[in-house]
Formats: sequence, structure tokens, C-alpha cells
Amino acid sequence: MAWPTSSPGAISGEATSARLNLPERTTLTDLRARPANELPGVGPKIEATFKDLGIVSLADLVSHYPSRHEDLSNVKKISDLRVGERATVVGRVVSTRGVGKPVRGRSPGFSVQLYDGTGYIPATVWGRGWLQSQLVPDTWVLVSGEVQRRYGIQISAKSLEVIEDRDAQGGGENGPHAGRFVPVYPVNKGIQARRMRTLIHRALDEAGRVLDPLPAEVLARHRLPNLHDAMHEVHFPSERKRLKAAMRRLIFHELFLIQTGLAARKARIERTERGGRHVGDGSLLNPYLKALPFGLTGAQERVIEEVLADMRSEKPMRRLVQGDVGSGKTVVAVAALLSAVESGGQGALMAPTEVLAEQHYLSVSAALAGLPVRVALLTGSQGAAERREMLELVRSGGAHVVIGTHALIQKGVEFRDLSLVVVDEQHRFGVGQRMVFKEKGTLPDTMVMTATPIPRTLSLTLYGDLEVSVVDELPPGRKPVETRMVDLAEREDAYEAVRRELEDGRQAYVICPLVEESEALEDVRAAEELYDELVGEIYPDRKVGLLHGRMKAQEKREVMAAFRAGEIEVLVATVVVEVGVDVPNASAIVIEGAERFGLSQLHQLRGRVCRGLHPPKCYLIGEPKTEDSRSRLEALCEHQDGFKLSEVDLAIRGEGTLFGSRQSGMPDLKVAKLLRDIDILVEARREAFELVAKDLTLKSPDHRPLRREIRELLGADVEWLFRE
Ligand code: ADP
Ligand code: MG
Repeated sequence: MAWPTSSPGAISGEATSARLNLPERTTLTDLRARPANELPGVGPKIEATFKDLGIVSLADLVSHYPSRHEDLSNVKKISDLRVGERATVVGRVVSTRGVGKPVRGRSPGFSVQLYDGTGYIPATVWGRGWLQSQLVPDTWVLVSGEVQRRYGIQISAKSLEVIEDRDAQGGGENGPHAGRFVPVYPVNKGIQARRMRTLIHRALDEAGRVLDPLPAEVLARHRLPNLHDAMHEVHFPSERKRLKAAMRRLIFHELFLIQTGLAARKARIERTERGGRHVGDGSLLNPYLKALPFGLTGAQERVIEEVLADMRSEKPMRRLVQGDVGSGKTVVAVAALLSAVESGGQGALMAPTEVLAEQHYLSVSAALAGLPVRVALLTGSQGAAERREMLELVRSGGAHVVIGTHALIQKGVEFRDLSLVVVDEQHRFGVGQRMVFKEKGTLPDTMVMTATPIPRTLSLTLYGDLEVSVVDELPPGRKPVETRMVDLAEREDAYEAVRRELEDGRQAYVICPLVEESEALEDVRAAEELYDELVGEIYPDRKVGLLHGRMKAQEKREVMAAFRAGEIEVLVATVVVEVGVDVPNASAIVIEGAERFGLSQLHQLRGRVCRGLHPPKCYLIGEPKTEDSRSRLEALCEHQDGFKLSEVDLAIRGEGTLFGSRQSGMPDLKVAKLLRDIDILVEARREAFELVAKDLTLKSPDHRPLRREIRELLGADVEWLFRE
């Protein structure tokens, strides 16, 4: 298998002649079949490094794209630098030395002396100590950071990238000044930037002419270069315009493949599966709506109508209902459930936590009290006898609406005629669970609800085969939650402010700091400690309750009931109350250790107190240790709107695997960035859906390469998509 004449790990400077016996015209599939270590110059050491970088095959190698391109026209001459500015320079390494107090013989940072022909300047780098050994004299690096005066002028490097090692001379063909754009690769300590480029160059050579799986007319319509040219241009940029077009092409490529997969999935489901037709007569829905203590918001009315229209149709419903915390999604769910029952079926409502399932059970039962609808509850903690009774009710059809946790989809649960499934807080479940209902024969209508405020464009990609409804209006009279950061020194003031709420007859949540899941017991201890402190010191005269995940179901039920009834004024809780819990009289929330929570989690928690008519308050106690955690807390103080917050969150966290395959069943993005590339996504999506509308299974010869690509991208479990 291995290249016979190369010694492992060695790499020669000149190009090697192509001997991998790849056809002159190759496909990505061909390249995927060839391990990267077949390439001369890839020995065991580099092979291991490649693995860390996710490079296994030749296809991975040629598509190991630069994380960005540095435009050298923005680079400053060292002689022109001014103290206080942020600047980027390119220079040759003269020398390096460790700086800072060494710990166990290793310096926490290093300083590198740079020369660019106009002058010398040292740059200080903290962390990434392994880089120092790569910075042998004459290596070309690109540094950006602030120019500071400290024993003379220096740059405090925010980033330092090796762009070429010493063998490349500044004027040489591959030197940094060869073009104006320098690709910056994601590399690690196992490999130098130049070697990476050399190997990619070689792999591209070996690969020959790479065929394009995307239909030619799609490319033409969007003026996109073909894959072969785009790959070359991105690795070895020639000019700005072509580089931009090439990047655009690769982003389009990635999004188009995913969207075509989604379109195929959607078409397949619509073509082959029949759902029930729900033609309710309104005999349950109308009295339910009439009895609500409030009028529906415009958004609720619209979304309910969208859902009922889906249910009337013969196509199985697959709809995502998105709505910010407190927008009133439960009413939408109940309306759908009643419509299913009206047409003689059963409806299920699944919640991610027992606390939430119980709450839904209580509130739905109460709302339906006067109607001939039987509601059953199914959770994991029910006793054997109770469970048997519930299962029987579900099987016989005696229960019309079944509410529960994931216990709903466990073995042994059989419905008489399940015709609608509503999944609440869907982001808390995996995809697998979303699909299980389907395996039971008939295909029920499915509606998933989420408050995770994913910007709309993201939800298109994530749930591209679902229709999306947005409850984009809050019930009238909602006040913004006054949100404050409180450092530890002012902690008592926050509790004092909450005391005033209590004196006015309102209630409050106090959320314990987040503890790693693996330390569930710690979690309980932290919660108990905080509870003791509240009872003993902070609110000795108030009724304080405690709720955490390790309590018995019955205990949890009692605590929640007491809190709902106002018998508990302050509820100390872990994140078990994060989603869905609805006690309108609670008007304040204190979040301890706020810096440990994610932004969307904090937004959810804060959502617990935006439900009443009193101006609610949220106190974020803690001391953010990083810039990111500070920005998160600041964003929360500034914005109320979940959509806005999730954009901020994305900007802070980067997109990475945040919306990865775990949730969507789709691969992670490698080149595209959703927020940045929204326009490309929209185009790719439209093209993908049009293509699939014309050729459902992509069987035309023109589309076969595309089909193969999607199969390889999505894995074996998409076979069914393309069956005739
Ligand atoms: P979420 O979308 O977060 O699940 P809920 O369905 O729990 O929101 O509703 C939040 C609160 O708002 C509940 O107390 C509910 O009774 C109330 N609510 C829902 N719709 C309206 C409305 N149209 N007018 C007034 N209050 C409403
Ligand atoms: Mg809810």
C-alpha cells in the first residue's frame, strides 16, 4: 500500500512524480478510498498528526482548507508601527526565548524577535508553547496584536501563524510574498504550515482532474467555478476575485449537499407516507379556547391555524413551532391535541423533564376538566401498579391525551391509535428519539416545539425538512426582565431586593451554580448548602423550599405544588426548573454562579419570571473570569429577545459543532458559517429543493455523482431516500 521509495516521515523538497495510480479524472469518492498515508511524505508521525486534524483520506487532505486567508496588503511595516494600535506584521524569525516565570521548567510564554526589512520588533505570545520550537530562524510568521511600550516597543500577539518555514525565501514561488493572500491553515504541533501546504499541493497533483458532483447548470446559474479550480485557488490563491469566488463555491457546495439531502428526505416522506387526516369538528377545541382566561395573541392564532391546516391534510405533519420563552406555546400544543382527539385519535405530549411533564399534566387536566377528554400521565418514576394502569389506558384508548417524559417511547408502550405527537422543548431530545414513534407502524403527525431561539436561517438548515412556525409575539402586558450583574461583594443587596418582592406577596427562584453532570452528588450538596444558607441566614423568616434532580418524584411533586400554591415563597433549585416551568406569581430569580451557565440556558432560566404582570427581576451573581463569559452576561442584561441573544451567542461561541449532527442528523459545517453565509444558504436551498422536485431520487445520469456524494456525506442510513 505504502509508497515504496519514500522513507517514513521524510519529505523531499521537490515534487514527486505521480505514482498513486489514480485515474486522470478522479472523483471525491476515489480520493476518499485512498488513505492519506499513501502519499509520499506522509509517514507514521504525520499520519498521526493528520488523524488529530481529522485527515484520514486523500479527500480529507485536499479539502483541509485554510481557516482564513490573510490579505498582505493590510500588513504594516515594522518601521511604521505606533504604540497603542492593533496591527498585523509579517516578518522573519530572528530568535526566540521563553518569558515569564517558568513552571516545572517550562515558560508560560515566549518572545520572538522579528525582522521584515524595515525594522526589528519582539512579539510576545502567551500559551501555545509548542509553537516556539517551530519558530526556527528565518521562518516567516504573521503576527497581529497590540503595539505596546514595555522596555521598548513590542507586540502583544493575539495571534501568531507560521506562514512559511525557513526553506521558503521571501521572494520564492511559495514564499509569503508570492501572492497577496496567504492561506492560514489549522495546524497543530505535529506539522508545520509549509509542510502542510507541500503535502496538499502534492495530493492535488496526484488527484488529477477532480470531477464536480454539482450539476453544471446550477454552477452556471450562480457563476461558480468548478470544484477542481476552486480547490486549487483556495489553497494557492492567485487574486482576490478568484479566491472569493472559490470560497463561495466551496461554501455553496457544502450547503447544497446538505440541503439536497434534506429535500430528498422531505420528498420521500411526502411521497410514501400517509398521515391521518384530522378533520375535527371543534367540539373540544372551541370550548377549550373559550374557557381560557385570556384571548389568544395574533401569533398564537396564526400558528394554531398553520398546525390545524397540516393536520387536515393527508401528508404527515412535520412542523417545528418555535417561540421565545413565555410566548405561549402550550396553548398551541393543546389545540393540536384536542383536534386529534376530535377526529378519534390519541395525542401524546412529550416533555424532557419529569417536572415539566407533571406540570403539563396538571395544567392540561385542569383546562380540560369540563370536557370529555381523559388525560393520562406516564413517567419513569411511576410505581409498577400505576404504570400498568396507565399502559392499559393508553392501549385501550381510554386515555385520549397522554403526557409524559421519554417514558412515552419506551418498550411496552402501545397506543390504540396514536395520531399526533407533540414534543416540547425538542432541543433537549436527540434526533433518534424524535424518530421512534415512526417505527410503530402508522405515521402520526409530529409537531416539535422549542424555545431555543435559533435564528430562522439556522433552523432552516437544522430542520430543513420541517415546516417552521414562529410564535413571534408575547402575550400583552409582559414587562422586560430587569437584569443585573451582581458581583460577590454585592450579593447581599440582591437578596435584599428580592426580599422586597416577597414582602409584596411575590415569589422567587434561587438557582444553584451549575455542577458538571458527572458530579450529580456534588450538585445535591451545593443545592443543600445554599438552601441551608437561605433558611439559616438570608431568609430565616420566609418559607423556603428545595428542588433538585435527585429527589424522589413524589417529593418533587409536593415541592412544586407548594410553590405553585404560594406555600413556598423562595424555591432553591438546580437547573431542573430550566425549561417550561410556569408559576406566574414568581417575579424574581437569583442565579448563583451565573458565569458558569451558557447564554441560552440563562435566557431560559430568566424566562421563569417573565410570566406575570409585575416587573420581573433577574440577578446574575458571579464573577466572570473570561471575556466570553463577561460578554454573555452583558448581552443578557442588554437584550430580552431570545433571537437576538442567540445571534450574540453564536458570535461569541463560533458555530463549530454547536448545531452539529447530534441534533440535526446532518453533518457539521466545515467551511460555511451560517450567520455569515445566509445568502448562500438561501440560494443553495432553493436550488436543492428545485432539483429534487424535478428528480426525486436523483436518478438521472447528470445527478448520479451528486447522489453518491450525498450518500457518502450522510452515511448508510440515507439509503432509503434513494430507493425507487
Ligand atoms: P412557553 O411558550 O414558554 O411554553 P407557556 O405556554 O408556558 O409559554 O405560557 C407562558 C404563560 O403565558 C402561561 O402562564 C400562560 O398561561 C400564559 N399565556 C399564554 N398565552 C397567553 C395569552 N394569549 N395571553 C396571556 N397569557 C398567556
Ligand atoms: Mg413551554
